[in-house]
Amino acid sequence: MNPCPAAPAGRVDFVLVEPSHPGNVGAAARAIRVMGFSRLVLVAPRDPGVLEHPQAIAMASGADDVLAAARRCDSLEAALADTTLALGLSASGREFGPTPAPPRPACEELVRELGASARTRVALVFGTERTGLSIGQLQLCQRLCAIPGAGDYRSLNLAQAVQVMAFVMSEALAADAAGGGAPLSSPGRAPGTPEGEPASGAQIEAMYAHLERALVGIGFLDPAHPKKLMPRLRRLFSRTRLGVEEVDLLRGICTKIERSSAKDDR
Ligand code: SAH
Repeated sequence: MNPCPAAPAGRVDFVLVEPSHPGNVGAAARAIRVMGFSRLVLVAPRDPGVLEHPQAIAMASGADDVLAAARRCDSLEAALADTTLALGLSASGREFGPTPAPPRPACEELVRELGASARTRVALVFGTERTGLSIGQLQLCQRLCAIPGAGDYRSLNLAQAVQVMAFVMSEALAADAAGGGAPLSSPGRAPGTPEGEPASGAQIEAMYAHLERALVGIGFLDPAHPKKLMPRLRRLFSRTRLGVEEVDLLRGICTKIERSSAKDDR
């Protein structure tokens, strides 16, 4: 099955950050294919030839079309450039990351995002086998999800975590399509979503870079001692959904700050 690109399932990326085991990549391809998804993205896989690796092909077991179409990116920023809402998956929360949600409400929010406009794209982001997602990688995700487990032992194998999330995501999409009650993806804005087009990952990252430059320019941010200013600002902004116009507005303010601090320097 290959969902139509404009259909909600065709706008869902499953992103594996630095996967090390070819078998996990193949098993993840199978996991998403069985649940009706097709978009697998690999960020800097340890083995650059992983998609052709015999273990990956064996574990994909018939989902080789997903492997063949998988996208490879050098960085998570590049992988999320067109994404409007990214959900990071982590067994444990991180300071300055968003508060973790359980899978069902997290996937329902992704489904609402997909319903907000045909141009929205969502991503589920999984970390590397040994260490999971780093703080910097989690900060590129606006939302965080933890799959609950038995107390302190809840770290799943990578492909198993992909399977759980692909299943919950497909259930949330099916519930929405079946329309029990108000559809999650009904036209009209869901709470917290912007008017107009939502900003993409690339637009939001460019805004943070601009904000950082402006804050350095006025001496509010000391690059030698940045403390946790940018992570705190990221956490603040990621509590809301930014639209393209709002990002433009914030960047307009940054430009004015830069101009007036340049004038002051003269
Ligand atoms: N030792 C690592 C485990 C990584 S498992 C750690 O503690 O983070 C590989 C990936 O699978 C994780 O980065 C995460 O994306 C996903 N994963 C595994 N178990 C999970 C859970 N209980 N909840 C959410 N994601 C999980």
